[in-house]
Amino acid sequence: MKAVYPGSFDPVHNGHIDIIERAAKIFDEVIVAVALNREKKALLTCEERVGLLKEACRHLANVTVDYFEGLLVDYAQRVGAPVVVRGLRAISDFEYELQMALTNKRLNEKIEMMFIMASGEHSFIGSSIIKELAGLKAPLNGLVPPAVEKLLKTKLQRKRAGGGA
Ligand code: ADP
Repeated sequence: MKAVYPGSFDPVHNGHIDIIERAAKIFDEVIVAVALNREKKALLTCEERVGLLKEACRHLANVTVDYFEGLLVDYAQRVGAPVVVRGLRAISDFEYELQMALTNKRLNEKIEMMFIMASGEHSFIGSSIIKELAGLKAPLNGLVPPAVEKLLKTKLQRKRAGGGA
């Protein structure tokens, strides 16, 4: 069975990778899909997010990386995935995820949302805290793949120098 794992991935971090690796053991094929949302201002471009995910998932033969705009359920149906995987960290994630799951069910009852609990080791990691740490020049080893740390450094330096994101 095919599953989609959608997210902003701005940037991908080790909490995401843990969910991808675990989903890849359960499903025959996992499509990690960068959701492009005009309402959300991202630090990284779509190409950068897709590129970092591809690099981070290179060791997983049944994982591919893609991006989409618009409704998640439409995308899942288009790629033939009856399941959407999301990661759950804390109660704070739960309320939002429940709302999204119920909304998606109403939009397309054929698509099932499935949740994988964050591992204890990664449950505190989120893309926002990663960007905050990178901005403060804190080491990110163990939290993100090396390529992510490198790109964040370059991007934030350029931003500080006035070159924009
Ligand atoms: P979104 O903006 O769609 O929430 P994110 O990139 O922040 O996108 O997260 C994508 C998915 O990964 C979500 O289901 C989120 O709950 C999950 N996730 C985020 N951080 C972690 C983590 N540290 N461990 C497990 N799952 C996580």
